Amino acid sequence: MKKIPLGLFKYSCCAGCQFQFFFFQEHVLETLGAVDILYCKMGTSGGVKEGPFEVALIEGAITESWQVDELKRIREVSRFLIPIGSCAVNGGIPAIKDIYPEIEVEKRVYQDLSVIHSVKAHPIDEYVRVDGYVRGCPMGERDLLELLTSLLLNTKPSFPEYCVCVECKLKGTICLLIAEGKPCMGPVTNAGCGALCPSHGRACYGCWGPVCDANAPALAKKFEQLGLVPDDIVRKFTQFASPRIEFRKGAEMYE
Ligand code: SF4
Ligand code: SF4
Ligand code: SF4
Repeated sequence: MKKIPLGLFKYSCCAGCQFQFFFFQEHVLETLGAVDILYCKMGTSGGVKEGPFEVALIEGAITESWQVDELKRIREVSRFLIPIGSCAVNGGIPAIKDIYPEIEVEKRVYQDLSVIHSVKAHPIDEYVRVDGYVRGCPMGERDLLELLTSLLLNTKPSFPEYCVCVECKLKGTICLLIAEGKPCMGPVTNAGCGALCPSHGRACYGCWGPVCDANAPALAKKFEQLGLVPDDIVRKFTQFASPRIEFRKGAEMYE
């Protein structure tokens, strides 16, 4: 059987999703056996960057102009292009800086600004058409497996399109927001992690990014009633997906 040519590209991020790609190999190895990894800097010291690729997995947010040029070129030579992980899907951790003026952020980090040409952090789909998303920080195994098997079977992948609360209910987890007054982002966050944090007594941080029908203003009001100060509420809604309007609506009320 002809193997599927795949490229794994990294932009601004911690590279944790590439590590996940290999960490998950116990469960995705059979799938990976049917894949020919043409390019993956972390795994093979690079490889063939030119393509063509059946699928290009993109990790990280876009924060520099050269990344835009390269991303557009990858789009041209890839049949499917999928952002993996919160940084690529929603801007993620790098986009925390987006709520401050860019020059302020640069001054805080670098001594010599003459060689810095950064731009605000943007998700991949703000620059190119994408064919799906593998969410999470780091990306989730279930969604990655669903993506790879769908590619191999030539079927449409199915990703959850409901909030983390649904997964809590399915697991029978007691609601931390209602029962303990913990500021949980689950009601506005896309499911897929199996309600990982609430299952361990921790409020959801929103790392999977906003669910499509998120009502962030209502949840922000609830956080205020719980005693959170405006800065904390803004942080809640800008921690993992600050470029996304669904979350920004929660932050804007308190900025
Ligand atoms: S989504 Fe999280 S784990 Fe993945 S690259 Fe971004 S910061 Fe790292
Ligand atoms: S703990 Fe959080 S995710 Fe779970 S049901 Fe309550 S609000 Fe929703
Ligand atoms: S519960 Fe929330 S913060 Fe925790 S892994 Fe799931 S989406 Fe991310």
